[in-house]
Amino acid sequence: MKSITILGSTGSIGTNALKVIDAKRDEFQVLGLSGYSNFDLLKEQIEKFNPKYICIGSEEKAEILKELYPNKIIYSGDEGLKTMGALDEADIVLTAISGSVGIEATVEAIKKEKRIALANKETMVAAGEYINRLLKEYPKAEIIPVDSEHSALFQSMQGSKENEVKTLIITASGGTFRGKTLEDLKDVTVEQALKHPNWSMGKKITIDSSTLVNKGLEVIEAHMLFNIAYENIEVLVHPQSIIHSMVEFKDTSIIAQLGVPDMKLPIQYAFTYPRREESPELERLNLRTLKELTFDQVDNKVFKGVELAFKAGKIGKTMPCVFNSANEVAVELFLKGKIKFLEIYEIIENAMNKHCAEEIDSLDIIKKVDTNTRKWVYDNYGTN
Ligand code: NDP
Ligand code: MG
Repeated sequence: MKSITILGSTGSIGTNALKVIDAKRDEFQVLGLSGYSNFDLLKEQIEKFNPKYICIGSEEKAEILKELYPNKIIYSGDEGLKTMGALDEADIVLTAISGSVGIEATVEAIKKEKRIALANKETMVAAGEYINRLLKEYPKAEIIPVDSEHSALFQSMQGSKENEVKTLIITASGGTFRGKTLEDLKDVTVEQALKHPNWSMGKKITIDSSTLVNKGLEVIEAHMLFNIAYENIEVLVHPQSIIHSMVEFKDTSIIAQLGVPDMKLPIQYAFTYPRREESPELERLNLRTLKELTFDQVDNKVFKGVELAFKAGKIGKTMPCVFNSANEVAVELFLKGKIKFLEIYEIIENAMNKHCAEEIDSLDIIKKVDTNTRKWVYDNYGTN
């Protein structure tokens, strides 16, 4: 029996992970659950999965949980989250929090040499260089990607050596606004941006998909996870979201992973790896009824998220952290109606232009750059 801690259990990935666990109760049990603001859903999950450890955003809510569940161990806030990442009894820690708040809990899980099922891509973007150094120090820790593209790359690379890989081809649906012009995007609303054609996800990543910043984050995530040079990473628009990504090898072979767009598959694979198991929850891909699989270039003139990420990634050091933090605040401001859609790119670009990349010799550098970038964006764009 494997014990799993889910950080961000009340979100889109978290609830999907619980469905995977629910279908395999003889194999997996929930050790810890963390939610932030969604008290009612967390309570429902506690009743259903009976975790020993719980974490919630506020201390007040934690007090209520302590009264309701006197036999459980209950934490709150960022410190609580760190503790949740480091639970001794955990075999697997799923990082499914949205945004870079998940970094420290992931660091704790690495120090405890856990398997980390990593959904929280912002961690690998903001702190990838630091995380990779830490993984060398704690060699029994392992990160198995949950992001569908990275799971596809990881699956496609099974059985081959790192030095046999030539190119990582990351597919992108193209998002809600595929085919639109800059003029079309000037006045798009939050509601329009939140409609994703193929995937149902949390708000932040849905906006990131519409700007293609999500794909940019995934380029940096892929570089950090697989140690492949940016020159050998490509993004290809594939609107059907059936091929989740591909690996081109030195001998020109391309190996791809296909499936219906459903996050339960990469979540389950991260839990069961290196084994593959039945997944009763998942719809099978019927190739006969698939009308077409098409591919296209990214329109970089309109959707600047990918190029900005390549730029940040190639500069490296703290620049990917700035790319990520500026985007996180920009998305928050867009969701609050304080900025326009296209200003998201302007904010990221300006934040990067004013930043001088620093070596990452500790987590404190990342925290400092994150705090300063957020403050700069709020001060300059958040006062409307
Ligand atoms: P959601 O917004 O649906 O969920 C986020 C989770 O994090 C919730 O449980 C939320 O709690 C919790 N949370 C939010 N803020 C904080 C905070 N400050 N401290 C602690 N917990 C917090 O996000 P998704 O599930 O869509 O995404 C999670 C991660 O997975 C992201 O990094 C995303 O990029 C990545 N990912 C998601 C995919 C998807 O299909 N959704 C696909 C690939 C990657 P609460 O709701 O209780 O407030
Ligand atoms: Mg993805």
